Amino acid sequence: MSRRTPVLAAGICVGLLAVAWVAATPARSASGGSALYARSGGSLTGGGAERRIVLTYDDLPANIFRDSERAVAGITHDLVDAVNRHGIPAIGFVNESKLYPDGDLDSARVAFLQYWVAAGLELGNHSFSHPDLHSTDVAAFEMDVLAGERVTRELLAAVGRSPRYFRHPFLHTGRSLEIKSRVEAFLDDHGYRVAPVTIDNHEWIYARAYDHALVREDPPLAGRIAEAYVAYMDSVVGYYEAQSRALVGREIPQVLLLHANRLNADTTDELVGVLVDRGYSFIDLDEALRDPAYGLPDEFVGSGGITWIHRWALTRGERGEFFAGEPPAHPFVEEVFGNPPP
Ligand SMILES: [Zn+2]
Repeated sequence: MSRRTPVLAAGICVGLLAVAWVAATPARSASGGSALYARSGGSLTGGGAERRIVLTYDDLPANIFRDSERAVAGITHDLVDAVNRHGIPAIGFVNESKLYPDGDLDSARVAFLQYWVAAGLELGNHSFSHPDLHSTDVAAFEMDVLAGERVTRELLAAVGRSPRYFRHPFLHTGRSLEIKSRVEAFLDDHGYRVAPVTIDNHEWIYARAYDHALVREDPPLAGRIAEAYVAYMDSVVGYYEAQSRALVGREIPQVLLLHANRLNADTTDELVGVLVDRGYSFIDLDEALRDPAYGLPDEFVGSGGITWIHRWALTRGERGEFFAGEPPAHPFVEEVFGNPPP
């Protein structure tokens, strides 16, 4: 499988969407954080062997087109085994509603989470039922967060740990500074730190298209999608490396958003290969968030679920051109994504 980035000839709606959310955000002057921007700490300023990245997987136990216990088991085992094979300290973010497929707590589904814990991997809270903070009452959202930790907290307690990170569903962090800070204070009160994302991407489109190809029993198509996915991720990581340099003059430790799905269960070796080729080593969230960049002001209250690099950039007052060049998904993958099997 090629590890080089293809030139993507046709832009889809991604660029337009980016323009739309940038345009929809009120202009704000740059404020504060100048010391943080200047403090490069001797880290790399372009290519090289010091790059660091966190792999984060959302929607555990699994995000899948046609749910079945067997399919979720396969994803869990293959994904965790692959991550472990490479010694990656990944974190998985759980939606505990998925542990109740028929209304009752399903011990087999709990065992899938246990598999992550037994492998020494960390679990975080991704809410119980994946509510959208932008259309959910804050008190109800907070209840959902607490409902989302019951099983996870127990599993982690058995190994002397506790859930420490929260990932907002849809990366929606609130449409006002008041809501945003209220939820953050709530999370803090319950021992959570927000798990940011710096490399957002269209992995979920590739993953769903891949599921569609498998349901259609079309292995050649699934293979093409997998190959396109790895090439796409190579290009999108490159884009966010450049965005980081444009924002703070150096490359910060990145946090990559992925999901627990069949595509990643099947392509971890290739994805890791691409990242290693780019000079990355794999770290955990604790280490990444120690970088001062993660203390940059974030006053983003737009509707998009966007990367923190872009939140920091928008807060600083960046607009338009700064955000240009985000790689779109492959058009043929978008097409498969948009045509689910019957
Ligand atoms: Zn999610």
